[in-house]
Formats: sequence, C-alpha cells, structure tokens
Amino acid sequence: MTLTAEPSTQLDRLRFFIDGEWVAPRGGETHTALEAATEEVLGTAAMGTEADIDAAVQAARRALDEGPWGRTTAEERAAVMERFADALEKRADATSTLVSRENGMPIGLSTAFNGAAPAGLLRMYAQIGRQTEFESVRPSLCGATIVRREPVGVVGAITPWNYPQVLAMMKIAPALAAGCTIVLKPSPETALDTYVFADAATEAGLPPGVLNIVLAGREAGASLVSHPLVDKIAFTGSTAAGRLIGAECGRLIRRMTLELGGKSAAVVLDDADMGTFLAGLDGASFMNNGQTCTTQSRILAPRSRYDEVIDALADYCKNLVVGNPLDTSTTLGPMASEVHLGRVNSYIDIGKSSNARLITGGGRPQGLDKGWFVEPTVFADVDNADRLAREEVFGPVYAVIPYDTDEQAAAIANDSEFGLGGSVFTSDESRGIEFARTVRTGTIGVNYYQLDLGAPFGGMKASGVGRELGPEAINAYLEYKSVFVSADQLPS
Ligand code: NAD
Repeated sequence: MTLTAEPSTQLDRLRFFIDGEWVAPRGGETHTALEAATEEVLGTAAMGTEADIDAAVQAARRALDEGPWGRTTAEERAAVMERFADALEKRADATSTLVSRENGMPIGLSTAFNGAAPAGLLRMYAQIGRQTEFESVRPSLCGATIVRREPVGVVGAITPWNYPQVLAMMKIAPALAAGCTIVLKPSPETALDTYVFADAATEAGLPPGVLNIVLAGREAGASLVSHPLVDKIAFTGSTAAGRLIGAECGRLIRRMTLELGGKSAAVVLDDADMGTFLAGLDGASFMNNGQTCTTQSRILAPRSRYDEVIDALADYCKNLVVGNPLDTSTTLGPMASEVHLGRVNSYIDIGKSSNARLITGGGRPQGLDKGWFVEPTVFADVDNADRLAREEVFGPVYAVIPYDTDEQAAAIANDSEFGLGGSVFTSDESRGIEFARTVRTGTIGVNYYQLDLGAPFGGMKASGVGRELGPEAINAYLEYKSVFVSADQLPS
C-alpha cells in the first residue's frame, strides 16, 4: 500500500482553547485517537468536563457582552474572517491529511471538504455579512421604527466526526458574520483536527473568547446544550441525539438548528442512462465511504430494468478501490472507528438474515488485515419496511428496492421517517425536475448529487430543523429587534 503523504509525528492536544488561551483541563480524562486505516495511535486529546464547558461558555458570554465583537461593524468582522481564511488555507494540506487519518475519508474528498471548504465558507459569509442590512428604519403609525438585526448571542456548536471541518465552519462562519460568539464541541472520533481553528483564529487576530473549543463526550456536550448562558444550539449529528437536544432546547425555549440523519433514495427512472447513473453514484451514495448524512443507500429500480440496475451496482462496487485513504487512487476508505465498523457489520448481518438477496460484498476486503474496512455491499429485493431500508447504516451498503410506476417510486422514496437528500436519474431532465417536486427532502439532485455551499441545506421530517449554508443561514444567528421612536428622535 502506498502512502502519498508523509506519516506525521504523533499529535497531542492536551489543552482546550478558551478565551484566546490554551487552558489546562479541569479533569484528567484523555482520549487516544487511532488511525482508521492502521489502528495505530495518532495522538492523545484531553476530554472536557462540565467545568471546562462552563469556562468556555463564560468566556464566550464575556466576549459577547463586554468584548468588542458584538459591537464591531460587519466590515470589521469580515476583515478578521478573511484573515482567518488565509490562516486556514496555509494549514489546509496538513488538516486534510489529519482528518483522513482520523476518520478514513479519501484524501481527495478531504482536501475539498476539510482543506478548501472551511476557508471558502469564511470568505463567503464575510461577504454575506457585508451585504446584510443590520439596521433599517421604516415609518410607523406614531413615528418610525428602527428594525435591528442583532446577534442571537452565545452559540453552542456541536459537531459529528464525518466531515468535522466543514460542518463546524458551516456554524462558525455565519455566527461570526452575525457578531455571535461560539463554543465548539467536536466529536471524540475526530479529536485532533478541530484545534486547527484555534491556531488559525489566533493568527488572524480573532478577539479572545469569540471562538472557544473544548473536546468532550455526550455528557459534557449535554451541559453545553442546557447551559443558562447559551442562547442558541447549532447541532449536527444523529437523529437520536437530535431528539434529546431538541427536547432540551424546547424546554428552555432556546434557539436551535438540528442537522440530523437520513435514509435517502436514489431513484432510477425507466429511461435512465446507466452511465449517468453510475457516474452520479460517486456523489450520491458512497461519498466518504457511505459515512455521509445524504448517502443515498436506498436504490429504487424500475422492475422493467431491475436486473440491469443490480448488475450495474455490483460492477460499481467491484470497481471501487478499497484501501488507505491517503492513497490518491483509493475510492473507499475504512470506517471511522471500530465501534462504527461494528454497527455497519450489524446491519449487514440484518440484511443477511432477512429475505433480501446478497449480491456482492458483505465481509471484510481481502488483503486488508488492519483498519476498519468493510466491503462495499449490495442487497437486492429489499422491502422498504425492512430495517435495512428504514435505518441509517452510515456505511457502504446498498438496499435495492423494485417499483412499478413513478408514483410508486415517489411513494417509496417518501415512505421514510427521514427527509434529507435524494436523487433521480432520467434521460429527460424536465421529467426529473417534476419527479424531484414530489419527494419530501431538503435537497435532491437530478442526474447527480452535489452539495452547493451557496444554497440552503437541511432536512425535512426527522432529518432536522432549520437550514445551514447559502445566504439564508445567517438568519439563524440573528434576532430581530424593533425600536419604536418618534420621527423627530431619529438620527439624521
Ligand atoms: P452523534 O449524534 O453520535 O454525535 C454528534 C455529536 O453530538 C458528537 O459531538 C457527540 O459527542 C455529540 N452528542 C451526542 N449526544 C449528545 C447529547 N445528548 N448532548 C450533546 N451532545 C451530544 O453522531 P455521529 O455518530 O457523530 O455522526 C453521525 C450522524 O450525524 C449521522 O446520523 C449523520 O447522518 C449525522 N449527520 C448529519 C448531517 C446533516 O447535515 N444533516 C451531516 C453530517 C452528519
């Protein structure tokens, strides 16, 4: 196996980034980060406690209430954000490599999502901040009203391990543009990379306390959700955790955005071009080894071309290059952790013991004795009521489901508790766009699926609440305030 990047030295992150300083943990727990492809030790990180989270929230609150950030102009914030982007870009190669080693993401994808995208988002939201009207005056019955858009306040951002850099920046960038301060709690599975934000923010001159980072597990994470000085929670993760977090935010009447799980469908219409379908699968389904929230693992195939679709999927899986994610020829890396591999394998066992037909895969790839690898797997004849069709596997496992009519295909696609992504493949684009209207998901692609950072992204149904990305996302970090004045009091 060829490694295309230098094996880096062991990385340790034993302090938290709070109030612009590297702060010693209040507790003594640590997390050993293992490399997904080799199971070797990558580094050690301190695990935060409720007390560490509290210190970070206090710092964010002070920075908001007393510090300069909440009173800066959009232009001043944009200038800092652009320097932050410059500082991240300098570190982009090292960050992309580190994340690939942590969670198994193929390096090309990691370069795009962990290297380039975070800096791109900072620049995009710097510009959106500049274009946002933070104050306007409108005539009222008795005088005038100044309509202000104020920062929502202290943001608690909680992120998963699958796209750790870009998912964190999807929260940090609009929050900074809006004038908020942030406490970021990343996931232990990707314990090391998130601190690059602290290095880059320091270099950029972000004022102390505006961005604080504490690695922690669920319990300390829950204390961030319920902390009395937090104003908004921005969460990306599983629907199970989202339900708990949403319930707590509801109890506290706390603002929240929830980006949760999915069980999306790729629908092959009866006139689809098989080459277009196979090319589209790269973005639609096994991107990041199937560890993507929008993974389209339910393949809806017309009965008239059912065998053709199954054969094409089997060939697609056999042609995937499974291996070390740092090798540029790899198209399918390992699962992010041993626990997660166990979860994916348990779904393969569920498939094997159901009435579904195992077409290919279902085991460990030959020749890969170390690392959390799993063969790309296709099950055919899956019933949409089966667990394999209803639950998120979060790995490279296809469930092929037959259908007879377009209406039936849409009904099966919609027969899911989730509503995150999807795609439709057809030779007639207008038919595809029409079909897309009938599917209740936050995003859907016609003949391909590619995230657009400039458009709103999020889920319907149990896939979430609210939207990230696009100019729209800044709204989740702003509160309206109406100031009623008599016209003669208005500033000229
Ligand atoms: P997870 O829910 O187990 O953990 C996500 C984060 O939440 C971690 O930082 C974890 O420590 C924290 N957490 C868990 N329970 C918590 C609680 N009760 N209170 C506070 N914090 C808590 O998810 P994961 O396994 O890390 O990530 C995979 C999941 O994320 C999948 O379901 C995937 O679909 C989803 N996801 C969704 C999107 C999206 O945009 N919709 C994007 C990426 C991933």
